[in-house]
Amino acid sequence: TSDVDWRKVRTDFPILELKIDGKPLIYLDNAASSQMPQLVIDRLVRYQTKQHANINRAVHYLSEVATQEYHDARCKLQQFINAREDREVIFTSGTTDSINLVMQGYGRKFIQANDEIILTTLEHHSNIVPWQMLANEKGAKIRVVPINDKGELDVDEYERLFNERTKFVGLIHVSNALGTINPIKRMIDFAHRYDVPVLIDGAQAALHIPIDVQALDCDFYAFSAHKLCGPTGVGILYGKAVLLESMQPYKGGGDMIASVTFEETIYNTIPHKFEAGTPPIAAAIGFGAAIDYLTTIGIENIAAYESTLLDYATKCLTQIPGVNIIGTANEKTAVISFTIDGVHPHDIGTILNQDGIAVRTGHHCAQPVMQRFNVPATSRASFAFYNNKTEVDALIAGIKTVQKVFL
Ligand code: PMP
Repeated sequence: TSDVDWRKVRTDFPILELKIDGKPLIYLDNAASSQMPQLVIDRLVRYQTKQHANINRAVHYLSEVATQEYHDARCKLQQFINAREDREVIFTSGTTDSINLVMQGYGRKFIQANDEIILTTLEHHSNIVPWQMLANEKGAKIRVVPINDKGELDVDEYERLFNERTKFVGLIHVSNALGTINPIKRMIDFAHRYDVPVLIDGAQAALHIPIDVQALDCDFYAFSAHKLCGPTGVGILYGKAVLLESMQPYKGGGDMIASVTFEETIYNTIPHKFEAGTPPIAAAIGFGAAIDYLTTIGIENIAAYESTLLDYATKCLTQIPGVNIIGTANEKTAVISFTIDGVHPHDIGTILNQDGIAVRTGHHCAQPVMQRFNVPATSRASFAFYNNKTEVDALIAGIKTVQKVFL
């Protein structure tokens, strides 16, 4: 982190200059959506003002430009995750869409009655519900990896769940509710001993941990642009080419075909087979700009800086009596879920908001995690590389105000 000027980096984000009721915005809801630097906003404006056209279909100038820029964005994503080929990167509308693509395209074709799908207690609803829908349709079973009191997966138990009926693993890389970083490499390697493919939900990882899909050897990896300083409406699914080629398309329509007659449709090659209709062209190009921006700073530098923020915030919070941190894994990203004795999480969020502090309160689309810790909800402060210690101090002061108001 030594040679990055984090104070200057912060000025790249115009939204951080906002005042909320006269108080500076303190944005600690980065796990829900991170903010966009000016450069990404400018890139979106440039596309909209000078490059907007539909892609793949015309020989005119604008269409060729948009097609090229969209393709370049795909290549940026390919490099970002070190995929072997650009056709292994499919643009989707986000992580949820990517997981549903795998469920529909892989799951519906290859998972049958009595087969087993392994998921973990830490999964976001978007990596639970699609598999439940599939299991109900097929008569397949879902097996769940438990977590310990620190919010860490029980990897031994994971390994014990495997048998000859195991057909798929869905695994969250970083827990959005707790920040736990899971040992996915070990878990992927183990699944491959049984020839079982693994889908990694990387929504909370990609901004904070360098991703190398070849080194991980994961079969699928999914994340959303809006959690990586990009716009909403786009994300990617990485898939190994052989798997993607073996899958059935999830949506039918234009662009995903090689030829159509009323008797028969021949599908296009990957990635087009999975990108029916007009894709989110503008958002994908903005995503590419965000990737360039993040690459310049360096995800490793981001990880190191955020870990100093996490340590500081954890130390400060631990010192306040009546505050309980939920999820104390040894390996964590800068996410702190907490409860305050005697105060409803919703009230915590409301009082903090009066000080301009944005945190999330609720179940974080991870109700099994809440059930495991026996809480209806938590408050969650999630940090990004443009946050700083002054903002941690403001959070701490805000929490003390909450305690004064309610206790
Ligand atoms: N998985 C995880 C771990 C997440 O944190 C989120 C977003 N909260 C999602 C999946 C879903 O992402 P999206 O809403 O962008 O599809």
